[in-house]
Amino acid sequence: MTAEEIAELRHRRYNATAISIKLVNPDLMIMRVKPDFPRPVHQPGQYGTLGLGYWERRTEGCQLESLAAGDETKVVRRAYSISCSIYSEPGRLMKLEENDWLEFYIVLVRENPDGRVPALTPRLFAMSQGDRIQLGERITGHFTLDPVKPGDSVVFLSTGTGEAPHNYMLWELLRKGHTGKILNACCVRYLRDLGYVETHQALMKQFPNYTYLPLATREPGIAKKVYIQDLITSGELEDQLGAPLDPAKTHVFLCGNPKMIGVPIRDRETGATTYPQPVGVIEVLEGRGFRADVAATKFKGNVHFEEYW
Ligand SMILES: Cc1cc2nc3c(=O)[nH]c(=O)nc-3n(C[C@H](O)[C@H](O)[C@H](O)COP(=O)(O)OP(=O)(O)OC[C@H]3O[C@@H](n4cnc5c(N)ncnc54)[C@H](O)[C@@H]3O)c2cc1C
Repeated sequence: MTAEEIAELRHRRYNATAISIKLVNPDLMIMRVKPDFPRPVHQPGQYGTLGLGYWERRTEGCQLESLAAGDETKVVRRAYSISCSIYSEPGRLMKLEENDWLEFYIVLVRENPDGRVPALTPRLFAMSQGDRIQLGERITGHFTLDPVKPGDSVVFLSTGTGEAPHNYMLWELLRKGHTGKILNACCVRYLRDLGYVETHQALMKQFPNYTYLPLATREPGIAKKVYIQDLITSGELEDQLGAPLDPAKTHVFLCGNPKMIGVPIRDRETGATTYPQPVGVIEVLEGRGFRADVAATKFKGNVHFEEYW
């Protein structure tokens, strides 16, 4: 494609600007995107979409992609939870209504041996500050704080960039002066993958009802791998929360890797529940009296989840 053709496609298909890109490490970024239109109305926990043209460059070191004829003029879009840096300056919570941008927390997927070749993230990681992008005009999703009552305990459990919507919900709880206990466990491979660690540490000092629990499964020197499921069965989660995991007063939010979440299949006729293997957090929690949301019947329980793939 010629430079003129690319410029014309960008002009026609893009409607937003990446006003800041912070690389937490070479494979992890926090990107702020300012739309040309007013920031869409939304609730903390929801997601929007980002898109780039297949004509854009891919960052190096990623799985090779072969495009079908005609694909190079198309746009690839993916869903992204809206994230939040929570503080605008040390000790001061953001006033998000003053912002005209949205924050995203994105990991580079370099390869996917079992499925489609990653199309969007290798292009997002080739972007520079000031570059143009496509932002979906609608922000949507069921993963919100709606079911949480004042005084409830709130437990956020995530893998990788799954902490993004939790950060935004956490900001909302703190801003509203939530009195219940809040625990936020983030499970990553290496400590360098904790993109908001300093913010969480500062929040813990400022808000006595907030506990942040980072877990790294592959960090050298950490003797024992701890997965989120183990945290619950060992009782450590309750110790960290400082309260029993009481289904009547606790909401649990799960986001990220579908294997950690473990969404069961419910047979509509018999009501039977089949849990996936390996055991996910939903099975562990339902064994302790919790009930997960069921999208098909619009049932709202006390375990809410967002799967990233
Ligand atoms: C509702 C929703 C919200 C999402 N929010 C985020 C977000 O805030 N941040 C984010 O990084 N991703 C998020 N995702 C995943 C995102 O939509 C893309 O799938 C991901 O960025 C990879 O895009 P891709 O085109 O490069 O590869 P894709 O073709 O989309 O994915 C290829 C493979 O990459 C793996 N993968 C996808 N996402 C991740 C991930 N986050 N971490 C590790 N492996 C992954 C899966 O094995 C997947 O099959 C979200 C997905 C959904 C459905």
